[in-house]
Amino acid sequence: MSTFTHNNMASMLNLQGVMMYKVIPSQENVYLKIGQPRRPSRCPYCQSSKLHSHGKGKVRKIKHGILLSGEMLVLLWQSNRFKCASCLKSFSQKPPPSLVQVEKDIV
Ligand SMILES: [Zn+2]
Repeated sequence: MSTFTHNNMASMLNLQGVMMYKVIPSQENVYLKIGQPRRPSRCPYCQSSKLHSHGKGKVRKIKHGILLSGEMLVLLWQSNRFKCASCLKSFSQKPPPSLVQVEKDIV
């Protein structure tokens, strides 16, 4: 896997639009740590743009598909959490909808 460039892998795995940080091979699965490319610009509750970083959310595993080598590719998504300075609500970024859709198809 280490011979693939990030761009090759992104298009091969249909993962354009997310950041790929690290590939972690294990016995049956290949874990790929991904993240969001940019921070949100608006609070989802009040649309304010005054957001502060508020730590990190739980790591979520998303089954992405079977690789040619027979291993399951599992995405590790860790949301950054943000707190709105206007309404004081905190929220986390969601994985791209295309990835969550894949997860539903498998399960
Ligand atoms: Zn807000």
